[in-house]
Amino acid sequence: MDSYLANTYSRLPLTPQRGEGSLLYDAQGNAYIDLTAGIGVCALGYADPQWLGAVTEQLQKVSHVCNLYDSDLRQLLAKRLCEATGMKKVFFSNSGAEANECAIKVARKYSAVVKGDEYCYILTVTGSFHGRTLTTLSATGQDCFHSQFQPLTPGFCHAKADSVEDVARCIRTYPLAGILLECIQGEGGVRALEKDFVRHVAQLARQEGIPLMIDEVQTGNGRTGKLYSYMHYGITPDIVITAKGLGGGLPIGATLFGERVQDVFVPGDHGSTFGGNLASCAGALCVLDRLDEAFLEQVLEKGEYIRSILSGAPGVRSVSGMGLILGVETEKDAKAVQMECLQNGVLVLTAKEKVRLLPPLNIPWPYLKTAISILRSACQL
Ligand SMILES: *Cc1c(COP(=O)(O)O)cnc(C)c1O
Repeated sequence: MDSYLANTYSRLPLTPQRGEGSLLYDAQGNAYIDLTAGIGVCALGYADPQWLGAVTEQLQKVSHVCNLYDSDLRQLLAKRLCEATGMKKVFFSNSGAEANECAIKVARKYSAVVKGDEYCYILTVTGSFHGRTLTTLSATGQDCFHSQFQPLTPGFCHAKADSVEDVARCIRTYPLAGILLECIQGEGGVRALEKDFVRHVAQLARQEGIPLMIDEVQTGNGRTGKLYSYMHYGITPDIVITAKGLGGGLPIGATLFGERVQDVFVPGDHGSTFGGNLASCAGALCVLDRLDEAFLEQVLEKGEYIRSILSGAPGVRSVSGMGLILGVETEKDAKAVQMECLQNGVLVLTAKEKVRLLPPLNIPWPYLKTAISILRSACQL
């Protein structure tokens, strides 16, 4: 079929028509077990009854109220996010890139006020991914995303991931406004940064008075078995950025400000027309409601199960990640494994040279077991 959609994706041969729980169905009614959740977005799977109820109820009341008016729902969602993290204020937007842009603005303004305008650089590390807008592309520590889109936004520098020395060198070389890290690099190949590295960088940031920002767009909202991945690292960020799974299938981004930066923005500094859309907020509240201890424990158990089946399986070189964000390094080309899974009714993602798994967090055990057994076979040479 001729496509009027921009040529920005190499699309797979599947056109999902509807979803239910962890299954997607094509036009012929064939079911696919989904280990992608729309790239980590549909945290509770498809058409979750509670989520659907919360969202439709809100849509019937009012779908959107602009940010010039107050909203109990928006207030409640912000409160829930702050209570769960110890952060103090939240700015809502519509995507991960936008939420990162907000974080960068806050860090720049904070540093401009406290240290001076020249303290404008944002440090990120190699292998990171922070979005597709020109500024978040500039933040992204992977050259392959940069070529032919020059000039990118100035004011970014990249240190070598897991090298404290290189971070220290950047701190000496550049007047920094902030440090932005993904504790587990998702698009970069499901690579967890080393604990010592992250803790050391957090300590350096504190010593130097540089706001530490953690990009939890992919890893947030229960994905790793804790509410946010930084909670595995024993650090306290100044800014937390999240999106993807937060809305459970509706667009929402959130930038959480810690104590140090909570009052940096004043009216007029930032805004978003769609930000904090009420249907998205209702969906997000429902997602957060479900992420209790028992739920998160299941996420960890399911992650452990996947590891136990795939680690050392024929054709599998390694398994990386935490909870239900996993990367499987295969001897076969990851794209070939993905295609073989698709032909056998299982949907997986890739990231760099790996197969990437981001299933719905509530995927039922029987579907998970079937899907992982199919994936295991697909990995065999
Ligand atoms: C997906 C992603 C983004 C970008 O999010 P969009 O909603 O696509 O703008 C930013 N950071 C990380 C870590 C991501 O995984």
